[in-house]
Amino acid sequence: MEASTKISDSASGGLESHFGNYGGRFVPETLVPALDQLSAAWLEARDDPEFTAELDRLLRDFVGRPTPLYLAERLSERVGREVYLKREDLAHTGAHKINNAIGQGLLARRMGKRRVIAETGAGQHGVATATACALLGLDCAVYMGSEDIRRQAPNVERMELMGTEVVPVDAGARTLKEAVSAAIRDWVSNVEDTHYIIGSAVGPAPYPALVRDLQRVIGDEAREQILTVTGSLPARVIACVGGGSNAIGTFVPFLEDPVELIGVEAAGSGIESGSHGASLVAGKPGVLHGAMSSVISDSEGQILEAHSVSAGLDYPGVGPQHAHLRDLERARYVAVGDEDALAAFGELARLEGIIPALEPAHAVAWLLSEEGREAEAGCDLLTMSGRGDKDLAEVVQKISGGS
Ligand SMILES: *Cc1c(COP(=O)(O)O)cnc(C)c1O
Repeated sequence: MEASTKISDSASGGLESHFGNYGGRFVPETLVPALDQLSAAWLEARDDPEFTAELDRLLRDFVGRPTPLYLAERLSERVGREVYLKREDLAHTGAHKINNAIGQGLLARRMGKRRVIAETGAGQHGVATATACALLGLDCAVYMGSEDIRRQAPNVERMELMGTEVVPVDAGARTLKEAVSAAIRDWVSNVEDTHYIIGSAVGPAPYPALVRDLQRVIGDEAREQILTVTGSLPARVIACVGGGSNAIGTFVPFLEDPVELIGVEAAGSGIESGSHGASLVAGKPGVLHGAMSSVISDSEGQILEAHSVSAGLDYPGVGPQHAHLRDLERARYVAVGDEDALAAFGELARLEGIIPALEPAHAVAWLLSEEGREAEAGCDLLTMSGRGDKDLAEVVQKISGGS
């Protein structure tokens, strides 16, 4: 496998397996044929007009795309410049993850695989996958850490209602990292008839490229919408980064433009506390869940537990393309702590009547920060990756002084 120096070649023939020094496949031998099959299937499918017409139809009529681009006037006033929100919170199921889940569900069906597995942290990817499987008539099992099951009970109920089996994982911190490991073990044993829908732009090749391709609909739409409305490109494009799928999907169409790209990670209780999810701002090169990327690890290279108030950013790794964009200095990554994200959650609700998910509340918090307000002329585009209903109980508890 050859290292790719390109930062974007989704328009060209191949699917990248490497992004600079990152990416690749660090997986058991038994999974290699399935990854090759997936790679070949996606290359074929994305050039097949019948497949793309079906995907476009479902994104339009089922998901509700294109999602609006909204000029947030009262937020803009507060920030001191025009801020446009890309409203993924208005997509069916309330977040961007459905774009990827439906694409991979269609791909599973195309590969003749009748069973789908997934893992979930915030529960959003589990709900998106359960939704896609109900829609497409596929069997579905979702692995979830038992701590996340507690934090995200309404999403567990949604999945079960749609016919998905939610499998609790009790190892380690009982969050996303352990759920991913359990899902990988299932896949190794059932790879013949099972497709593993990874929910972010992470994992072994071809997942980071596949998930990016399926999420770039966010940036493609937003770029066209902002050009139509304002007649020019935004000065800055901002998105929160957990595994990095909404951010990479937003960034990719702007890579060749004179636009600043800013990814906002979770600083949790503070970078110095060691209790955070900032794998780009404070990580080191390392392998996690099948790929080389920037990870949160100790001096021996052991992966550490991440921490964030938002389950979707509570992950010690990140998609390899982001690590590459960081090294190239094509994108800038910053981190925002729990407290500021919680404050921004309430602030956006009061200013705009939009209750954001805690994940994009980090991006809003950065925009409202002193650093975020320092900017040249031009407007901002911020991806509102999801809505906050799922977080309400957690936020109310935190704000009222509980923990
Ligand atoms: C899962 C999730 C995220 C984080 O995932 P990415 O792959 O980084 O996009 C962000 N926002 C919302 C609303 C989510 O559900």
